[in-house]
Amino acid sequence: MSTRAYIAIGSNLAEPMKQVIAAWDEIANLPKSKLIQKSSLYVSKPLGYKDQPDFVNAVVLLETELTPHELLSELQSLEDLHERVRSFPNAPRTLDLDIILFGNLEINDSHLIVPHPRMHERAFVIFPLQEISANISIPHIGDIAKIAKGFDPESAKRITL
Ligand code: ADP
Ligand code: MG
Repeated sequence: MSTRAYIAIGSNLAEPMKQVIAAWDEIANLPKSKLIQKSSLYVSKPLGYKDQPDFVNAVVLLETELTPHELLSELQSLEDLHERVRSFPNAPRTLDLDIILFGNLEINDSHLIVPHPRMHERAFVIFPLQEISANISIPHIGDIAKIAKGFDPESAKRITL
């Protein structure tokens, strides 16, 4: 049985656009999975620790037969492939891959929390998610269009190539 999983991609080091574009292909090649849709690229200012480059973000929709924890582990391997160094929370990173939704599953254990607990606070997740799934509703949070209205449109800007 396959599940529709949404993954948020972010990078702000080592040519972030290239990192995100490479991640698209790598995600498309994950086992037991099929890439269904990808958003545009978006640019946003760093949250938390400000003294670092802007981020490039995107969201993809994957149809997968992996379990949520298998998917997390595959995504962490891709982060490692991009030589991600884990230093401190909100530190600059070559590649961050977060599972934001996994079907309608709710998971909360020491490795994985889904839906991602901070997704609705982040324009750089909500805008690209809205672009590929305009009618989606986030469990316990509400409709994407309503959440998106709460953000300054400038806070995550679509990159037109
Ligand atoms: P962040 O994405 O919050 O900046 P990291 O990418 O360093 O932080 O991830 C820290 C930990 O978050 C990971 O080791 C992972 O086990 C955990 N985690 C919990 N929920 C999720 C999720 N939905 N997607 C990705 N990682 C998650
Ligand atoms: Mg992460």
